[in-house]
Amino acid sequence: MREAHQDAVSRVSEERLWRRHVEMAAIGAIPGNGVNRAALSKEDIAARKVLIGWARDRNFEVGLDAIGNLFVRRPGHDAAAAPVMTGSHMDSQPRGGRFDGIYGVLAALEALQAIDEAGVKTRRPIELVAWTNEEGGRFPPCTMGSAVHTGARELEDFLDVRDNEGVALRDALAQALAATPGLAQRTLRAPAAAYIEAHIEQGPLLENAGKTIGVVTGIQGLRWYDVEVFGKTDHAGTTPLALRQDALRDAVNIIAALHELTRDATDTVRFTVGRMLVTPNSPNSVASHVLFSVDLRHPDPATIDRLAKAAEATAKNAAKQCKVTVTPTLHDGPCVFDPGVIDAIERAANELKVPSVRLPSGASHDAMYMARVCPTGMIFVPCENGVSHNEAENARPADLAAGARVLTAALLALAND
Ligand SMILES: [Zn+2]
Repeated sequence: MREAHQDAVSRVSEERLWRRHVEMAAIGAIPGNGVNRAALSKEDIAARKVLIGWARDRNFEVGLDAIGNLFVRRPGHDAAAAPVMTGSHMDSQPRGGRFDGIYGVLAALEALQAIDEAGVKTRRPIELVAWTNEEGGRFPPCTMGSAVHTGARELEDFLDVRDNEGVALRDALAQALAATPGLAQRTLRAPAAAYIEAHIEQGPLLENAGKTIGVVTGIQGLRWYDVEVFGKTDHAGTTPLALRQDALRDAVNIIAALHELTRDATDTVRFTVGRMLVTPNSPNSVASHVLFSVDLRHPDPATIDRLAKAAEATAKNAAKQCKVTVTPTLHDGPCVFDPGVIDAIERAANELKVPSVRLPSGASHDAMYMARVCPTGMIFVPCENGVSHNEAENARPADLAAGARVLTAALLALAND
């Protein structure tokens, strides 16, 4: 590694990186050491303002695109060169942790700041991005900001999505954009030379293997469905069971059948029903309508296609009394990362003598959409017991800093390509 690059890496500060995690974790803090920072909420806006403040302290240019993705740029010396990008997201699950997403944003800022303090000139700009609404917990689906930015989806597709309180994304987005005025306008579909996302692993593999860095090779395939069961509401005390069209009873039957369909001996299939809306949702009324989500994942394209095809027929056959519709809402991957970026990350880890291992990602990330438009890779760091999407999510300051050092070295290698 060049001396100037070593200088930049050595300026990555474990203490500063940790302090910023603590400060961000206070925004939307919930009992049990967790964070609830829903996309485009007042907490999300507060976190954006803190990040913008840190970026302005270093005189980095801050920009926003039409879906509220936030960009922090350190210029390169070749004005025509597309940037090397790095980042993640600042929104969280309703009962999320202090590291999911925000780590990739703060590690990116740490890398930018360390490179800036070392005065390293790069050919390409290096640009931090904080993607809007990665989690999709408030406004489904997930990875919305990167999907729109890369042109995989249109912004218009999502403007009428409403949260559980009935607030439209259109209005929440307008409010968030207005809350951070005076930023540079960034276009959607801007070219990028490469993208690296740092993230906690959200699984137990690194910890079990005793490794500090996961060099991520790709992301498993993901399918989302809305299953709707249409019944008829009746009095719970007077209507004989045989005469009912009980939407919730059938929903339970369908979920049990889907569990059977997706059961596998190797425990590789991921099947989850995590959201259910019951109408009228009253203890003494038979449910007239149930809507529930299905999240289905597998790394093998043929397997996930087979399961996805079988899911609709299985759901319809399992319903005894009601009409059922199955609507696909998301279809992603599997995706394979770029060999050049994978090598750059692995080489950086080796040069810094940080133990690493190659592994696939079980969770979806914004990197999935970036991989469609530029060479992309990810850096994982361990999280305690693999726990994530949970208040108890935890990571060690030294591991977070090691990941930021590997990120810094890999960004510098790519920014001079
Ligand atoms: Zn995340």
